[in-house]
Amino acid sequence: MRRPPHSRVNPPTRAARPRPLVERDESGAAVRRRGGGAVVRRDDRRPRHPVIRVHEVGKTYELGQIRVPALRDVSLRIDVGDLVAIMGSSGSGKTTLMNILGCLDVPSSGRYLIDGVDVGNMDEDDLADLRNRKIGFVFQSFNLVARTSALVNVELPLAYAGLRGSERRRRAERALHSVGMANRMHHQPSELSGGQQQRVAVARALVTNPSLILADEPTGNLDSLMARQVMDLLEQINEMGTTIVLVTHDPELARRAQRNIHVVDGLVIDSAPYERRRAADETRAGAGSPAAG
Ligand code: ADP
Ligand code: MG
Repeated sequence: MRRPPHSRVNPPTRAARPRPLVERDESGAAVRRRGGGAVVRRDDRRPRHPVIRVHEVGKTYELGQIRVPALRDVSLRIDVGDLVAIMGSSGSGKTTLMNILGCLDVPSSGRYLIDGVDVGNMDEDDLADLRNRKIGFVFQSFNLVARTSALVNVELPLAYAGLRGSERRRRAERALHSVGMANRMHHQPSELSGGQQQRVAVARALVTNPSLILADEPTGNLDSLMARQVMDLLEQINEMGTTIVLVTHDPELARRAQRNIHVVDGLVIDSAPYERRRAADETRAGAGSPAAG
């Protein structure tokens, strides 16, 4: 049964605050301020919670008689506040994985939990609701609606969520402001550069205040300067607390993520399981004991 759309409205977006506040400590490392204003370092040792848990997920496309295995027994965990870069050659299964993480496609086998909820038990309505409330998408080709202003593009997810016109406008304006596009709000996509279009697309992903942003090659169509600017923006959004998973071919951008996941022929490799990573962190932090290996 459909729930009334108004029950889906999100609290005011934290990420759409006019200017992302990125502070750096003496060493240049990013720090975040939480609630009461206490400075929190990105590598603090507080308990972490998974946004994403993937258990032995497989995906096989059936093309008539031909079966194309795109993902094979993928298991991974991504925590709240992580910035993860997924890398891998063309055809390795990155987009298939992102589509599953974004609940745009269903696995052929295995389980996927988002915020602890098994999406395998949800119907289409629930999935659409979950996508709208929890996930922001950014695509390589921007996917903005043509002949429609940046402002209206950014308002769209809020219209699907059932927000009133004036509230939609206010929040879309804030989101555009936060990505540095306040002075281009009434421009259409064709009147904007690629980098500017992608900033609008990032504002559209942010405007619902999602817990997770999925960006599939968001800089793939941009020159290196614009790519760096879009990555700066994603990094700022992450530093405000939003979990981000992005696919990139660019090692320079991948280095800026806290963690890289490599996809090779449908297998995930180099994804240090969370427990192992934490154990390694603790070993390094231990009094003078060098990490093994
Ligand atoms: P990547 O994003 O890493 O380039 P994809 O996830 O798009 O890789 O594709 C992984 C494999 O699955 C490829 O062999 C691709 O041809 C195949 N594939 C992707 N989408 C489909 C589909 N809708 N139907 C059939 N095969 C597909
Ligand atoms: Mg792809």
